[in-house]
Amino acid sequence: MSVIITTEAVVINSYDFSNTSKIVVLYTQKLGKISAMIKAGRDKNSKIGRTADILNLISIVLYNKDMREVQLLTQADMVAYFSNIRENYDALLYAHAVLELFQYLVKEHEENQRLYAGLRKILYRFDQRAEPPSVTFLRFFVFFIELAGYELSTNYCSNCGQMIDPMNSSAGFNNTAGVLCSECTQKMTLTVSVSQELFSALHCLKSGAVQTGLSQEQASRLISMLESFLKYQIPEFQGLKSIKCI
Ligand SMILES: [Zn+2]
Repeated sequence: MSVIITTEAVVINSYDFSNTSKIVVLYTQKLGKISAMIKAGRDKNSKIGRTADILNLISIVLYNKDMREVQLLTQADMVAYFSNIRENYDALLYAHAVLELFQYLVKEHEENQRLYAGLRKILYRFDQRAEPPSVTFLRFFVFFIELAGYELSTNYCSNCGQMIDPMNSSAGFNNTAGVLCSECTQKMTLTVSVSQELFSALHCLKSGAVQTGLSQEQASRLISMLESFLKYQIPEFQGLKSIKCI
């Protein structure tokens, strides 16, 4: 039986299908990640085809059949086009890196209100240009890693369990263990050291602090550290292609 569903969604990806149609990958509020077909969506006059473009936040009407792999999109209206993201090359790359996380690391058909709200919020934040795009991305990345079940404690050493004061000490980071105290940092191989400044910034991001004082360069360092951690934890994750050359 097919059910008509009205919901909001972010367009994660888009593919051509046959000569005229289009398949979009959507992260929806009500159904989680799904694929949907837009019949004749490649036609220049297709309003749904134009509206359901990558990165757009849209409100949609969907014919949903549980047994079907690809649903049918019958209506799409623009909620936000994020023109400030599109005008800034760095913001665009980092916003695409967010979409990549959904493309490769989020399972289909799993509704998650927190993740949906986080995605929506971070796209608006990129669009507001309140800080360097790398810092905005890092905020989302920390949140995403936590929701994916790989929470990094910034209060305890993951090896010896000793308490760490994130505002006053340096730490280490290891792809197997995560955050380490300064003693374990020296003992364990393949550990990179994290300066006190960088470590407390990571701690602030985890607690959702608005001001981080992070520079673009510091944010990039934390992003590549977390990226390599995630690649190690999830072998099928190949890393973020959008920001590879930044
Ligand atoms: Zn330790």
